[in-house]
Amino acid sequence: RPRALSGIQPTAGSFHLGNYLGAIRQYVALQETHDAFYMVVDLHAITVPQDPAELRSNTRLAAAQLLAAGLDPDRCTLFIQSHVPEHAQLGWVMNCLTGFGEAGRMTQFKDKSAKQGADRATVGLFTYPILQVADILLYQANAVPVGEDQRQHVELTRDLAGRFNSRYGDTFTVPAPHIVKETGKIYDLQDPTAKMSKSASSPKGLINLLDEPKVSAKKIRSAVTDTDTVVRFDEKEKPGISNLLTIYSTLTGTGIPELEQRYAGKGYGALKTDLAECFVEWVTPFRERTQEYLGDPETLDAVLAKGAEKARAVAAETLASAYDRIGFLPAK
Ligand code: ATP
Ligand code: MG
Repeated sequence: RPRALSGIQPTAGSFHLGNYLGAIRQYVALQETHDAFYMVVDLHAITVPQDPAELRSNTRLAAAQLLAAGLDPDRCTLFIQSHVPEHAQLGWVMNCLTGFGEAGRMTQFKDKSAKQGADRATVGLFTYPILQVADILLYQANAVPVGEDQRQHVELTRDLAGRFNSRYGDTFTVPAPHIVKETGKIYDLQDPTAKMSKSASSPKGLINLLDEPKVSAKKIRSAVTDTDTVVRFDEKEKPGISNLLTIYSTLTGTGIPELEQRYAGKGYGALKTDLAECFVEWVTPFRERTQEYLGDPETLDAVLAKGAEKARAVAAETLASAYDRIGFLPAK
């Protein structure tokens, strides 16, 4: 079986609709076809300040949400990044292979550091894409299910894998991004040209999966659209309505042309009301399942312990072969 690897940050507590449609849905699907490794990336979370107690509870919450979304510990390996020390270890090696200018071209760093103020951005934020390279290469992943915003980091991973392989001999699988065209970028409901984001969205533009469904339904009904009234998918001219059509279509499995027909002559209000209802129907059991997993910390911890053990076995083998190729003296 080919391998898949991806990670998600525990930073905001609740996942948002962009995380689900862009990434987590693909995690669930790839369990069927791939030997899949998914992790909660707490090492990445501390690239910006985190309260320790909140980080701990958000990490559990993230794992509970992944299970609630359909990850099955019998069909994939679910773990916490900091439980596998090889990530930081191979991360250092990859740091030493990356050009300073090359790292400086990562647009996520530019965006995030600009938002924080350049003086407050940490070196960790600067090098986090390189840690991500190590995350992926440790598992010899073939496919990396992510949203469109992560494409550049997977490209960097391909470059560094190739660089290591040509310098030291074939060691790493060169991975490919697995990005679903339709849902690779879900937009902020108030600013349909910006990515819906844990850290950057306006509160009214962000649909958090664990929020009170009524609150989310209201946000959907007041999503920014345009002054026209025709329900038509057109990302350039009608980004707001196109975003809603994408969400509607993916949540319900109804084709966009069919939705366009259904709402012809009915205007935006009807579409928003119905989508809000579909979302509430979908999210209600998701929230319940999340609470069930959270309510049983022993089972959750057992899942994560078993996941870490499986992940470490793979990661340790890859790290050992990388260390050997580099010329590190083995410890006796
Ligand atoms: P932050 O703004 O702090 O980076 P985030 O909202 O991007 O948070 P992450 O944990 O960084 O969340 O991303 C987890 C996964 O969700 C990644 O694969 C990312 O590409 C994907 N993702 C995030 N936002 C969207 C979105 N709006 N549409 C589609 N996929 C998304
Ligand atoms: Mg992100």
